Amino acid sequence: MTEAPYTPTGFSPFRGVPLTVIGEDGEIFLALGHHDDSRMLAAVAAFHRTEYGMRHLPEPGEQPAVARTWALFTQDEFEGENYEWYVTFTGPLTPGAQPVTRVDDDTLGDHQFLARPTRCPRCRRMSGAADTRPHDGGLAFRHRCRTCTTTWPATHRQLLAAASGGGR
Ligand SMILES: [Zn+2]
Repeated sequence: MTEAPYTPTGFSPFRGVPLTVIGEDGEIFLALGHHDDSRMLAAVAAFHRTEYGMRHLPEPGEQPAVARTWALFTQDEFEGENYEWYVTFTGPLTPGAQPVTRVDDDTLGDHQFLARPTRCPRCRRMSGAADTRPHDGGLAFRHRCRTCTTTWPATHRQLLAAASGGGR
């Protein structure tokens, strides 16, 4: 007797790829089905943009680790916690295993927060990226000019999206 494979919940389409993030620190991007590297990475980039207001900057010469593998989704509780499901990575021959594609977040390089693009007050260069930086004895979300190193206040793109009620 064969059971129909369980379809796990919580995946949303990004660039047509059903994607979610798993792990305690959201360290693994997981997609249902096998996807080629460029399609998977485009989906992960779209996830970063819309969910985190971030983009990743690959380290020169380093490739993100995209793995097409197999997974068993289980609905039972795991270690006493009641999750919607948990996942075990397996081989293709495990009964009930489904094809999945995963990307480990720590292979994507640095992250950069996206901000509303504004001009450097000193040299007028546009900047659409910003970060939390020490400022005035505290921390503030600020652009930093790559040309002249001036910093100035930034507005996080996620906050803009939330304020305007915008989605993806
Ligand atoms: Zn500047």
